[in-house]
Amino acid sequence: MNNFEDFKIKKQLKNAIVDLGFEKPTPIQQVSYSTILGGADFVGIAQTGTGKTIAYLLPIIQDLKFSDQKHPRVLILAPTRELVIQIVEQIELLTPYLSVRVLGVYGGSNNIDRQKRAVAEGQDIIVGTPRRLYDLVLANVLRLKSIKKLVIDEVDVMLDFGYKTQLRNIFEYIPVKRQNILFSATMTTYVDELMDDFLVNPVKKTISISGTPLESISQEVYAVPNFYTKTNLLNHLLEDKETHNKVLIFVASKIHADRLFELLNFESEISVIHSSKEQNHRTKSIDKFENGKSRILIATDVIARGIDIEKISTVISFDTPFYPENYIHRIGRTGRAGHQGSSILFYTEKEIPLKDAIEGLMKYTIPQKELPEVVEISTELTPEEVVKTINPDEEDDKNSADARGDSFHKKSAKNSKVRTEVKSYERKIKRKYKKPQKRGDKIQNKKRKNKR
Ligand code: AMP
Repeated sequence: MNNFEDFKIKKQLKNAIVDLGFEKPTPIQQVSYSTILGGADFVGIAQTGTGKTIAYLLPIIQDLKFSDQKHPRVLILAPTRELVIQIVEQIELLTPYLSVRVLGVYGGSNNIDRQKRAVAEGQDIIVGTPRRLYDLVLANVLRLKSIKKLVIDEVDVMLDFGYKTQLRNIFEYIPVKRQNILFSATMTTYVDELMDDFLVNPVKKTISISGTPLESISQEVYAVPNFYTKTNLLNHLLEDKETHNKVLIFVASKIHADRLFELLNFESEISVIHSSKEQNHRTKSIDKFENGKSRILIATDVIARGIDIEKISTVISFDTPFYPENYIHRIGRTGRAGHQGSSILFYTEKEIPLKDAIEGLMKYTIPQKELPEVVEISTELTPEEVVKTINPDEEDDKNSADARGDSFHKKSAKNSKVRTEVKSYERKIKRKYKKPQKRGDKIQNKKRKNKR
């Protein structure tokens, strides 16, 4: 099955694949096609960038017969609106020669009435985030009694977003007799739980062992003492515009994202996205990054999960992620579709255990680079590097080593000039973006509420 010719696919679908320029199926597509087409429950452990979306869409669309029935027959659940939009796009790209009705439903903006009308028109495939989907079910607009196939994409992210209850609620409305298809970048106990509770003799296929990064990504690490030195190093690295021509920078928190934006030398080339930015702003920033107007995108893990952008040259982990799996997610944004990518990780002494966990997961020691001499070592500390309390309003902060009360910086803090102008900094940021930064979106607000 290492050729699309070996797949039993209808002509219209084949022509769409030719239009897309796909020459041969990716490994996950090779192992999943006939199993999913055969109707068995399926669990795919595959990272973003492996072609996992097409892996489940191809057999589903192949099996979908024309119908003008009102209620959808396929339900695809995804954790973020960005991923929902991407899945809908991929379905549209696969079906220009077929009559398939597809609708993406997600929250965050005032579009529920439009979505209700679209659902009422009748759909074959609904792709949605769990909360909005459940709202539409409760509003009696969306009927799930005709669902024959259920896909849950990025199961590990679903768990991370606290969607367990929503998923269980939705399951109540779907016929028990259905085909279940799960995809997750990493194997987690939640995938196991779902397999035990809902799946019938599932076929499980793993593409690259859980946590193993793609081979097309070169990796390196820098040991850096603190935030401001990390910023100096980043400014130095970003000067090489040829090597780092499309750079995705991951930070642990919204505060870090905004502060870094302020401090980097390449203001006109940078976009920032995090959960306090309005959806409109996020979409615009992603578009600018995608079409090359911005060379650099600063993002938090949660918000960057659904980003599917080709040809990212470099992924920089400015903060070492708290969950080692997130590192795998991060670097999976580069080295895609046959291109070579590079990943650069910065870590402070406090972040050493996090770096060790990543290397343990990958069973790979990332080559260490010396801090270039031209990079100035700063002794200044950020408020978070000094203050040890967790700010409950900062939802991403649990991901940062700063927030976990380590004492690494205590000694040096005494001898250092400390930035204390937090309030004035917030005002500056507000002025810069010309809009309040505290709106958040529904998911994040709910997450925060649950945490309290
Ligand atoms: P995914 O892992 O689903 O996020 O897909 C990553 C990217 O790979 C998407 O942009 C797809 O369009 C692309 N892709 C999927 N299947 C193939 C294929 N067989 N050949 C080349 N590119 C592909």
